Amino acid sequence: MKKGAVSKTVYREKYTPFAWNLDDVELRFDIDPDSTRVVSVLRMKRNPAAQPDSDIRLDGQQMELLSIAMNDRDLTAEEYSKDEDRLIIHNAPDACTLTIEVLIKPQENTALEGLYLSGDFLLTQCEAEGFRKITYFPDRPDVMTRFEVTITADQRRYPVLLSNGNIVNSGQLEGGRHWVRWMDPFVKPSYLFALVAGDLAHLEDHFITSSGRDVTLRVYVEHENIDRCDFAMKSLINSMNWDEERFDLEYDLDIYNIVATNDFNMGAMENKSLNIFNSKYVLARPDTATDSDYQGIEGVIGHEYFHNWTGNRVTCRDWFQLTLKEGLTVFRDQEFSSDMQSRAVKRIRDARDLRSRQFPEDAGPMSHPIRPDRYIEVNNFYTMTVYQKGAAIIRMYHKLLGEDGFQKGMKLYFERHDGQAVTCDDFLSAMSDANGVDLSLFGRWYGQSGTPEVTASCDYDAEKASFTLHLSQHTPPTNNQQDKLALLIPFEVGLLSPAGEEYPLQLLEEESAPATSRLLLLEQEEQSFTFINIPVRPVPSLLRDFSAPVKLHYSYSVSDLTVLMAHDSDAFVRWEAAQLLAQGEILGNQLGQPQTEELQLDQGLVEAFRTLLQDRHTDPALLAEAMILPGEEYLGEQMAEVDVDGIHAARRYVKRCLADTLRPLFMSRYKELNDAAPYDNSSASMARRSLKNVCLSYLLETEDGADLAQAQLSSSDNMTDSLAALLGLVWSGAAAAGPALEEFEQRWRNDALVMDKWFVIQATKPDPDTVRIVRSLLDHHAFSINNPNKVRSLIGAFAMANPTGFHVVDGSGYSFHADQVIALDALNPQVAARMAAAFNPWNRYDKSRRSLMKAELERISTVDGLSPDVFEIVSTALGMEKPE
Ligand SMILES: [Zn+2]
Repeated sequence: MKKGAVSKTVYREKYTPFAWNLDDVELRFDIDPDSTRVVSVLRMKRNPAAQPDSDIRLDGQQMELLSIAMNDRDLTAEEYSKDEDRLIIHNAPDACTLTIEVLIKPQENTALEGLYLSGDFLLTQCEAEGFRKITYFPDRPDVMTRFEVTITADQRRYPVLLSNGNIVNSGQLEGGRHWVRWMDPFVKPSYLFALVAGDLAHLEDHFITSSGRDVTLRVYVEHENIDRCDFAMKSLINSMNWDEERFDLEYDLDIYNIVATNDFNMGAMENKSLNIFNSKYVLARPDTATDSDYQGIEGVIGHEYFHNWTGNRVTCRDWFQLTLKEGLTVFRDQEFSSDMQSRAVKRIRDARDLRSRQFPEDAGPMSHPIRPDRYIEVNNFYTMTVYQKGAAIIRMYHKLLGEDGFQKGMKLYFERHDGQAVTCDDFLSAMSDANGVDLSLFGRWYGQSGTPEVTASCDYDAEKASFTLHLSQHTPPTNNQQDKLALLIPFEVGLLSPAGEEYPLQLLEEESAPATSRLLLLEQEEQSFTFINIPVRPVPSLLRDFSAPVKLHYSYSVSDLTVLMAHDSDAFVRWEAAQLLAQGEILGNQLGQPQTEELQLDQGLVEAFRTLLQDRHTDPALLAEAMILPGEEYLGEQMAEVDVDGIHAARRYVKRCLADTLRPLFMSRYKELNDAAPYDNSSASMARRSLKNVCLSYLLETEDGADLAQAQLSSSDNMTDSLAALLGLVWSGAAAAGPALEEFEQRWRNDALVMDKWFVIQATKPDPDTVRIVRSLLDHHAFSINNPNKVRSLIGAFAMANPTGFHVVDGSGYSFHADQVIALDALNPQVAARMAAAFNPWNRYDKSRRSLMKAELERISTVDGLSPDVFEIVSTALGMEKPE
């Protein structure tokens, strides 16, 4: 947008249906990377359900209009008008056929929205509003229609021509060109349109659905990557099976294609029957991909596949409803991963992710409800809040209704809305009606931003053997939303005896004790729950399974935490107990203290770690999670003003003390897990590797570490172990780090995805000098500011995952980052806006850092021609002054 122009805000309340229905659309593409011709034939009819409008208003940007005809007659200049964003056909009859011919330039498209070039092939990305860069169209999710797509291209250069649905015809043309026609029998909005043209290899498999449909599955990649598709294919088949078994949902076409590209703004896109994926979430081989890459691929392949029902068959009425498809589908992919791997580990990782990334977003300038009320640029609302908090809210429906009730609700949702574009309220009604329960109070979660805080306290009456739990809730005001209402919070609890046995839970008004774990419903500001027949003062086990996305305040004693950590049947609470012990030590005991060489720690934490290291029964992946100290960003969140350097020093000190005190135990566990067994990617092997590498990270704080890491790096047969060792060497500043980085680079210099990891390791090294290294890496041959994965690996990792480096006291990290945001904005506003968000928490820091960050935000905001994407982020951040 031009400097000084007024940004246009869109409001949810102002929704009106489109004045026209689109019976169907024919699209004809004449492919050429310099100049692709697109002809569209739109058959329109007045929409009787909408406000009458004599004009047809179509969205369109950055294209050249060649011709426009209505019912085969060219329109005269007076019969239509157009500006930068729109084409308006005046005085249209009640029904008509529009034929529009435009030219677009894929080669010049650096924003990666619409039709663009990746390597030698062409592809599309249309969600949310990319289709308007392909042709003039009602580019909104509530206009659904059938698409017929004909693609013509040079056969040698573009042998593969893909779109949605099924191939209905194809043929040869003169001059070495060929054409293919695709027809998608399902109605869909334009954001689900996709096209791919290129010379790609593919891996093929088949899936027979429960009703006997034989579906051809293909994964398309550039030729050199064909040996890295097996796991993606396996994950797709597992997803299809799982959705039939768990949700009774079957695939509905004869073809399912996945295409991988190195140039993609997001993770992946669920276009009907033609998913387009960031190659990061497709390509994997043991020597190139880590265990977390494999888990990411399984989760994202599942996610996009599950969208076929939750997103494609039933879609969103408008983009304010984005969480309708995303929150629900993230919940579904979380459940899929939980059923495929370890449910407990998945739950802990998702909870940690939500707390360390979504909670800060919800407390910052861009705080918004999962269903926002307004936006300037919709791309800025593909957020942790809409996705991850959205999924947490779907998970609460599941907690409240149980699996059977939840599935009943899903069934009714599809019965009512298949083929429609609907709202979050429609989903809530289906859940409510199917179960005969009133969920209106629960509905408040959709409209309220901010993280609710639940404070717990308790009374024990020894005489009556009764235990009363008092819960109160409070949601702090957030930017743009001051007044908060009480929410319905499902709060799962247990009570443990001091010896760790779980008491049956009988509420005062009940006849019997149904279980040892109970879901309490906190609906008011304050409520109390009294349990009887509790013979000894118990240790409360609170917010089991992280049953609601809230912050819990309860003063556990160290001995309470030790009991929970050792005995609780709930994995989340066990993990949380270990985290709280560590957090107490870091923030409570060590922060701001002069750290002596004596390495003195609270014995509670040392003993807790000793127990974890000696535990041979618990899943090693859970032990690993428990021993990962709370992250610096999360610890910073717990403070009124983030003490960047203090947190780093205190956390490092605690880690060193633990490593030093328990060195023999870390060593023996490491050696025991570092066996010579060849690599496999079973859940059990991944768990062992995760614990082994956590032990290594502690040992790297001792003098043994560098040798162990070097030995692991040279003997490893898989990327998980290699990368953990390399990262350990680099971060610990070992002498071997330089040569190891060089050797790694030599080996992988032509592998884009592996080089991303090489950038991340260097960009996240906690060191004040890292900004200098990151700056020099901008010139590395493997880096390109045009490629979103590279930007995220170097610039994004530095600004968002390296507090010590980014917040270096002279402000050089900030000015470097602002330079990158400005450079990126001219190329790819969507990615630039993501990067700009690194400054969002600026007012959480000390005065000097605050003013340095604010100055950079102001510098960005005055750039000529700033995109609405970055404008929205930066102006919102600047609007949030620190209350002095
Ligand atoms: Zn999605």
